[in-house]
Amino acid sequence: MNTIPTIKKLGTKLTIFSIIIAVIPILTLGMVSTTTITDTMEIQAQQKITNDLKIAENIVNNKIEKLHVAVVHTANAEETVSALKNGDSKKLKEMAKLTKESAGADFVTIFDNRGRVIARSNNEVIGDYELPNLIKKVLNGTEINSIEMLDEETLKMENLENDVEINISKTYNSADVDKSIENKGMALVSIKPIKDHDGNIVGAIVAADVLNGDYTVVDKVKEITGDTATIFLEGLRISTNVQKEDSRAIGTLVSKEVYHEVINNGETYYGRAFVVTDWYLTAYKPIRNSEGDIIGMLFVGTPEKPFITLENNIRNQSIIVGIIGLSAALGVSLVLNRKITRPLEELKKGAELVSSGNYNSRVEVKTADEFGELAKAFNKMAEEIRISHEKLKKHAEELEKSYNELKELDKMKSDIIVIVSHELRTPLTSIKGYVELVLDGTMGPITESQRKCLEIAEDNIKRLKRLIESMLDLSKIERGELEMNMEEIGIKHFVEKILSSLKPLADEKNINMNHDVEDIAIKGDKDRIAQVLTNLVENAIKFTPINGNIGVNAFKENEYAHITVTDNGPGIPEKDLCRIFDRFYQVDSSAKRKKGGSGLGLAVCKSIVEAHGGSIWVESKHGKGSTFHILLPLNQDEV
Ligand code: ADP
Repeated sequence: MNTIPTIKKLGTKLTIFSIIIAVIPILTLGMVSTTTITDTMEIQAQQKITNDLKIAENIVNNKIEKLHVAVVHTANAEETVSALKNGDSKKLKEMAKLTKESAGADFVTIFDNRGRVIARSNNEVIGDYELPNLIKKVLNGTEINSIEMLDEETLKMENLENDVEINISKTYNSADVDKSIENKGMALVSIKPIKDHDGNIVGAIVAADVLNGDYTVVDKVKEITGDTATIFLEGLRISTNVQKEDSRAIGTLVSKEVYHEVINNGETYYGRAFVVTDWYLTAYKPIRNSEGDIIGMLFVGTPEKPFITLENNIRNQSIIVGIIGLSAALGVSLVLNRKITRPLEELKKGAELVSSGNYNSRVEVKTADEFGELAKAFNKMAEEIRISHEKLKKHAEELEKSYNELKELDKMKSDIIVIVSHELRTPLTSIKGYVELVLDGTMGPITESQRKCLEIAEDNIKRLKRLIESMLDLSKIERGELEMNMEEIGIKHFVEKILSSLKPLADEKNINMNHDVEDIAIKGDKDRIAQVLTNLVENAIKFTPINGNIGVNAFKENEYAHITVTDNGPGIPEKDLCRIFDRFYQVDSSAKRKKGGSGLGLAVCKSIVEAHGGSIWVESKHGKGSTFHILLPLNQDEV
């Protein structure tokens, strides 16, 4: 598994931290501003679209108003009323034509008080009924100013059937229609009752401006808002300012979704739409007739591009500002890094020099800040180290001198011991031989008091011999001249043999000797190990009171044989515990005199045990007895 490498360099860490610190506000600012800009742009676009719709509606209303003004004028004219009363359809046709012209309408038709057509601007035919539902309402006194759907029959009677006709082209996902030509028309209409002087309704007049293929409304929208506008008859585009190739993009159908939302549900639809070549923000608002029925839609669309361009410009500028900010942060952090890491580098170098023994080296940081203070403290410390080092060096030299002198003295002492011991051994052996000769009667009979004297002399000769041998042993061990015969020693049998050889000595004081020894083997020099154990058990017998107890145990402990010799003698005072293994050390010299001994036995034991790679120590409670412990390595061939 790959682990992320730890950043070790302070400079790198500082740079990373400063970048993070710079990036967080820049990113936050960028995100907040982008969201704010996007939201603002969306609101603006929405407002623009809503505004466009209002403008388009106003234009439509203005056109209806224009029709209304003309219709009111004709309806109120004396000539119209009298012509109606006289049934003068010729005059009325003239009036209709004039009204059509002044209203900018596609047709004007005048009705009598029973709802029959009495004059048409576009046709000679009269006497029929047209727009019966609307006319009926008007003859009841209502004025109508609205957008209405005109059926094929009405349009035919007004000679407009060819003008309104639009070929329907179906596209993918367009609303369902089961015809290929639209014959109906959508028109702005103004209808007004005509009243005589007494207020009686004598007829009605209608002026209509057909929207199919008429682009004045949509072009006006374009002129005012610069945006796209389309009028739909139900789902069919009948008037638009969108150009497709060289003509207007009419005859196509709205999508199913929009149709459903606007025509079926009567809701205004807002959304994005792809119109001819570009994306638009769009709104489709239902068009209702005077009955409140939905007969079509008014569409306005504003291209998304300017908003997106503005948004992108602002975003790009934010990015540029961000990059500049980041670069500035990086630059500042690099300068700071140099200011921080340089003195640190200096201090590091200085510390390395001092630690490698160059106590005269000093760091050069001269700033007045904390680094300067640190450098001063460091230099002071280095100076103190240098002084201490000088002192230590001097002491070490003195110590070395003393040590060499001591070593020399020690060697001399050791040489003297060896020489003296050797010189003493020969005459001692001779003395011993003569004393034995006299004692065993070879030189003739001796008296009892002479025997006693000679036995004391023999004891002392033996003691002296042991002392000399111990001294020689120690010298040999120290000089590394002690020859050791390493062999496997079965501890159990070995201990038992030593104990049985010492039994007579123990019996003299009626001392009970127990042992509990595991059957384990060590590797060592039999004579030397026997010397150690014998010494310890002899000491134990020596110091244990009459009828006392001695225990020898041995067991395996890790890779060692752990042997203990325990007695219930007087014990050793705590202050002496650490010294009894020193040469010639005896706990109490007056007691020593009584017990005999030279103070060399334990020193020899320690040297032998350590020469075997083991250790020896004692545990004792004054007045309660002592336990001597030995650890000797087990025979590795067996382990
Ligand atoms: P020594 O030949 O005098 O016995 P050792 O080196 O064997 O010399 O012992 C040093 C001293 O340690 C002894 O003089 C004695 O005071 C003390 N000592 C040794 N073994 C025991 C023991 N089992 N109990 C009490 N004291 C002991």
